[in-house]
Amino acid sequence: MVRVRFAPSPTGYLHAGNARTAILNYLFSKKENGVFILRIEDTDRERSNPFFLESIIEDLSWLKIRWDEGPYFQSERLKIYESYAERMMRDGFAYRCFCSKERLSELRKRWIMSKEPPRYDGKCRNLTESEIRRLESAGEPYVVRFLSPQESVSFEDGIFGEINFPATYVDDFILIKADKTPSYNFAAVIDDMLMDITHVIRGRDHISNTPKQILLFKALGRPHPIYFHHPLLLEKDRRPLSKREGSREIGKLREMGIIPEAIINYLGVLGRKVERELMSPDELIDSFSIHSFSRSDEVFDFEKLLWFNKQHIRGLPAQELGKRAGLSLDERIIDLLKDNVETLTDLRKMMAIFENPEIEEEGIKFLKGVEDAKKIAGIIKESVKNGERLSLQSLKGKIKDEGIPLKKENIMAIRILLTGKMAGPPIDRLLDFIPVNLILGRIECFERN
Ligand code: GLU
Repeated sequence: MVRVRFAPSPTGYLHAGNARTAILNYLFSKKENGVFILRIEDTDRERSNPFFLESIIEDLSWLKIRWDEGPYFQSERLKIYESYAERMMRDGFAYRCFCSKERLSELRKRWIMSKEPPRYDGKCRNLTESEIRRLESAGEPYVVRFLSPQESVSFEDGIFGEINFPATYVDDFILIKADKTPSYNFAAVIDDMLMDITHVIRGRDHISNTPKQILLFKALGRPHPIYFHHPLLLEKDRRPLSKREGSREIGKLREMGIIPEAIINYLGVLGRKVERELMSPDELIDSFSIHSFSRSDEVFDFEKLLWFNKQHIRGLPAQELGKRAGLSLDERIIDLLKDNVETLTDLRKMMAIFENPEIEEEGIKFLKGVEDAKKIAGIIKESVKNGERLSLQSLKGKIKDEGIPLKKENIMAIRILLTGKMAGPPIDRLLDFIPVNLILGRIECFERN
């Protein structure tokens, strides 16, 4: 049985990068009829924030990424990690280290000066039982360190193939910190073990942690999960996803009127070989293959996400679309509009055509540059006042009769005066739904300006 987990730390919002990790785990678990677990890695008390926890849960729920187990909170499992640390010390795989901060930073400096990666030198490996008891009863703070076997580690990554680390790579790293909280690597391994995780799917930025985790599994006498380190999502300049760009956060995307289907689709196919790009969440699950990844990083492309959004909006039934945009509009109107919008926000803005007797700013600016705009406005007003049924055809006829050329800018002027906007569905189809008082209002608005 496949068991996977998404393990966010509540130290920031859910953004396109970590949402992608969640989506890939989710799609894989569904495809394999497995179990998707949500685990909150909140042992770092300083950086974890209940506010971020709430927002991550809210965003996952909004994306309709449902977990089968959890959320498990690592902060509620401290006793478990401590007891495994005890066990490892008893079995000779870990030890207490009383080294002072000063000594450790000295050590660090020396490694750096000799141009070698900093690592602990194992001084406290050799403390005697009585020394340990003395230091402990004197209340000296200590950490628990892994007694690294100092052996090379080699593993088969599901995406990157065989990866090797030299024997010196894994040092006696910390399992339990002085404040009794576990390190990330230790808590992750204990939980992956106790939660029977079969596949770990996470960003390739975690490859450097994997040898540590593999050696921990070995010390615990348990096989390690299969690792899939996916390439990263980057900005155009190849840097990590920007924290300043709003459109990287899931909550911001929602505010911008992006729908969950588009996010799942875009992030679910990005960097994978797929037969077709546009898929519903169910189709994504059915066609999902864990062996479809390319090894190169991807650049976050907001325009592409918008394209997916446009397609998925088109695919929604009018009633559903109206509900999501929070609009109680005639379904026929929504059907009319939905091919012309990229986001729910666009759709809400289009509503103005049927509600608001104004002309958008751009439209006014445009009209001011059209030589015959006043005359055209007069012709429309006249027709409305005479109670004529408006159509683009009849208006064109009248304009021509007045000797006004039927050039592009004049047709655009008709659109703006009738709808208040420079873009939208075919004018004739809109006219059935626009109350004439709005049209008169728009003409007034133009004349006022
Ligand atoms: N809390 C870690 C992170 O957010 C999880 C890494 C992992 O999947 O092991 O990066």
